[in-house]
Amino acid sequence: MNILVIEDNEQNLYLTRFLLESRGHRIVEARDGPAGIAAARSALPDVILLDIQLPRMDGYAVAQALREIALFDAVPIIAVTSYAMNGDRVRALAAGCDTYIEKPIDPDTFALKVEAAAATATGRGKREQIP
Ligand code: MN
Repeated sequence: MNILVIEDNEQNLYLTRFLLESRGHRIVEARDGPAGIAAARSALPDVILLDIQLPRMDGYAVAQALREIALFDAVPIIAVTSYAMNGDRVRALAAGCDTYIEKPIDPDTFALKVEAAAATATGRGKREQIP
């Protein structure tokens, strides 16, 4: 899959890229919200991984903005968040994310979770939680 990763933390970006490229996926990176939206328009990814704490524009705002663009109606957005509070997950889903994966990233399961989420989520309107 073509996967857009919107993430400002270099270590998380590196790990995410490594784990997903190891599974044969192609990665496009963006390091803040506006850059992520621009990258989504140019890369037309199959799935978007979205950090919540981002410079310039947080992940909630990015998800909302992406969901205003019909081009991405069928593109799953997966929040990748270290926020432990359930309310933040609810907020991510309300903003238009299909599901979320918790940080810290577990190298043993992360790529499988992304693939499972991409396979079950269909973008806007269908939102499922990964156990
Ligand atoms: Mn961040």
